[in-house]
Amino acid sequence: MAPTSTSSSASQSHRKRPELPLITCSKCGRHTIIELEVKKNDKGNRGRIFYKCPAHPNGCSFWFWEEEYVEELNAIAREKAKDEAMLVEEEKHIRPKNDELVDDIRALVCIGKEIVSLLKCFLFVFVCALSLAGYACVRR
Ligand SMILES: [Zn+2]
Repeated sequence: MAPTSTSSSASQSHRKRPELPLITCSKCGRHTIIELEVKKNDKGNRGRIFYKCPAHPNGCSFWFWEEEYVEELNAIAREKAKDEAMLVEEEKHIRPKNDELVDDIRALVCIGKEIVSLLKCFLFVFVCALSLAGYACVRR
C-alpha cells in the first residue's frame, strides 16, 4: 500500500508533533504559532523542531525549541488553571450583588418601557393636533 502523494511543503496539516497544540502567540497575542523543522545543517540542529510566531523576528520574540515550547505550554496551562480558580472565587463573591443588579436593571427596563408608551401617546396626540390644524388651514 503506497501512501497517497501529498505536497512536500511544510503544511501544518502534516505536523511532526500533532499532539502539541498550536497556541495563539503568548507574546503578541495576534498570531497562531507555527511548527517548523530546521532544514539547514546548522550546528547539528538539522531536523530539530521549533515553534515560532509568524511575526518573529519582526515585532515578536516568540521562538522556542520543541522542549522549550512544551515547557511554555505547561506554564501557560498552569497560569490558566490559576486564573480560572481565581475567577471562580471572584464569581462566588460577586454573585449576590449581580442578582441585585439584575433586579435593578429589570425595574429600570420596566420604567423605560412605560415612558416609551407614554411618549407614543403624546406623539399620536401631537400628530392628530397637527393634522387637524393643517385641515383647518386648508379649509380657510
Ligand atoms: Zn507573536
